[in-house]
This record gives sequence, C-alpha cells and structure tokens, in this order.
Amino acid sequence: MKAAVLTEINAPLQIVDVEQSPPKTGEARVQVKATGVCMSDWHIMNGDWPSRLPIVPGHEAAGIVEEVGPGVASLKAGDHVIFSFTPHCGHCRYCAAGRPVLCIGHNDTPGIVLYDGTTRLSRNGEPINQMARIGTFAEYVVCSEENLIRIRKDMPWPQAALVGCSVATGIGAVIRHAKVTAGATVLVIGCGGVGLNIVQGARLAGAMRIIAADLLDNKLVYARSFGATDTINAKAENVVKRIREMTGGLGVDYAFDAIGSEATATQIVDAVAPGGSAVMVGIPGAQVRAPIRPFQMVFQEKSLTGSFYGSVRPDIDFPLLCDFYMNGKINLDDLISRTYRLDEINEGFAALRAGSVARGVVVFD
Ligand SMILES: [Zn+2]
Ligand SMILES: [Zn+2]
Repeated sequence: MKAAVLTEINAPLQIVDVEQSPPKTGEARVQVKATGVCMSDWHIMNGDWPSRLPIVPGHEAAGIVEEVGPGVASLKAGDHVIFSFTPHCGHCRYCAAGRPVLCIGHNDTPGIVLYDGTTRLSRNGEPINQMARIGTFAEYVVCSEENLIRIRKDMPWPQAALVGCSVATGIGAVIRHAKVTAGATVLVIGCGGVGLNIVQGARLAGAMRIIAADLLDNKLVYARSFGATDTINAKAENVVKRIREMTGGLGVDYAFDAIGSEATATQIVDAVAPGGSAVMVGIPGAQVRAPIRPFQMVFQEKSLTGSFYGSVRPDIDFPLLCDFYMNGKINLDDLISRTYRLDEINEGFAALRAGSVARGVVVFD
C-alpha cells in the first residue's frame, strides 16, 4: 500500500509503497478515506518539532475499519471512524478524571510508535514511524483502538476528517475549555483551520461580538463567513490598541491565540478585560517564551490557560461535532478549500504555507 513518507527534514514527502503488518491485540486496520493537511504535520516536516525519521505524518483523518485484531471490543469491520491523535488508556489519573487529552498511561513509549513500542510500517526491512501513533498520510493505518472513535455512517469523509484535529481543537477550546458564555465578546488571533473553528465555536456558544485578527485579508474574509462580526488586519493595525478602541477601553471577555508565538501570546493577555480569560490554542515552537505582566494578572484578575486538542473527550465530542454538522449548526463545507490525491500532497503543503486555503484535504477513492 502507498504512504507519504518523510525521510529528510525540509524535503518533500515521498509517495512510496510500504509494507504494513496486521493489527495486534487491541488494534485495528483502517482504510483511510480522507486526511487533512495541517500545520502540525508541517512542524514535523520542517524540523520545528524534532522527530525520528523516517515517519509517515498525518493525524487529521477518517476512514472505515477493515479488520480488527484480537481483543477489540469497541469496533468491528465496517465501522466508520475518526482518528484521535491522543492516547486514552482509560485508567490513568487524567483519563479517570475525564481529561483524556492529558492521558499519561503510555508515557513509557514515544508518540511515534504503537503502545507496544513497535511500528506497523516498514520499507525494505527498515521500520517507519507513525506520527501520533497513527500516521494517516497512507492508504491504510494500523493503530490502537484507543485512537479510533466510531461515528455515524452518513457523515461525509472530508468533513469527518477535519473533526479529528482542527474542528475539535477550535470548537472544543471555546465550548469545553473556556466555556464561552452567551453575549460574550471574543477575540480570535489567527484564522487558519483552528482559528476559523474558534470563530464558529464562539458563534455556536452565543457570543455577541466575535473579532477576528490575521495578517492576511483573505483569511479575514473566511472569518466573516464563519461568524466574525469584526476583523482586524494585524499587519496594518496594532491588535491590542484596536481592541481597546472597539470595546470602550475595556478589552474582550475571551481572547484565543490560534497561532502560538511570543507576540500573539502576549497580545491575548493584553487584550482581555479585567476578569477575562486568555487561552493559548495554537502550538508554539518548543523554545518560545512570552513576557506577561504578572502585575496586570493580579490586579485585573486575568487568567491565562492552555487548551490542547480543544480539551475534548473524543468519545463524546467527535460524534457530537458530527451531529452539529449534520444538523446545520456548524459549517465544515467551507473549511475545505481544496482536495488533493495522495500524490499531490506536497502541493497541499505549499498552499497551506502560502495561506491560500482554509483547509486542504487529501481524499482517497
Ligand atoms: Zn492538526
Ligand atoms: Zn490515560
């Protein structure tokens, strides 16, 4: 079967034939139907997040279970699934507390091999790692059932794929993590796949005013179509100053950073009103540090928190996000600006880096 393999940092993915071993105990083999092109894949491809090569990237995907290994109770062949890129052991302190995105049950193995410490992919006898223990830039994936969430069968594939990363991360950050209240004023910095879902999550939560900021005007046009009431071009204007002007000097109730940089992390803290919540969502480079003013945090009772993977519980939230889409409550169709075949995936990364798409999705026949 074919997979897109990264063999060298800053080199294109290579579409090659690879060998795949069958599912072991607790694992399943899934035929991938659609997989999104995400900035997190790019962070691995360009070396921002050091990883072991060769590796198959890809973590935002959906497909059909083809076969299950021994002991798999939650899935059977023919089930439609969305991949979850975090483990969920079910009994560590975080899983037990209902916070599976913080699961520590498999911390004894690196996040690029399956839970027994080996990979199911190889080429000419050399093992190939799987990003997030899945690696979905491939026609088939063998992974643990922990990483597969069953969904309704009428959910279309490209839209289902996006639920697995950008939709869960963005909407989850709003409704699960920050718990934005009806009538609130919200700032979203960065209007890519995650940022647009923060915007529509804020709309879903009943926010009154949703202000979107980005460096690119085409992204701000997208943001308006997903529910932004106001926009700021952050290249032309000072975001914090503009927010103060727009809110009578007070600031916003909630500010989300969908970028993950020193500048944007600082801006969200400065942009929230006294008592407000700043939430970091976009994943920064590992070495980034940001200067905040503790003085302001104390006197104005501001809070700054991080949300990983939208703080979702995939078993509950992925099916719910599919229902939201099927009931017309969220818009996933307009996230999909372009689709590609697997052998066009490098074009997908060029478009992502140029900022010319909301989301690109690789689809399989
Ligand atoms: Zn992603
Ligand atoms: Zn756990």
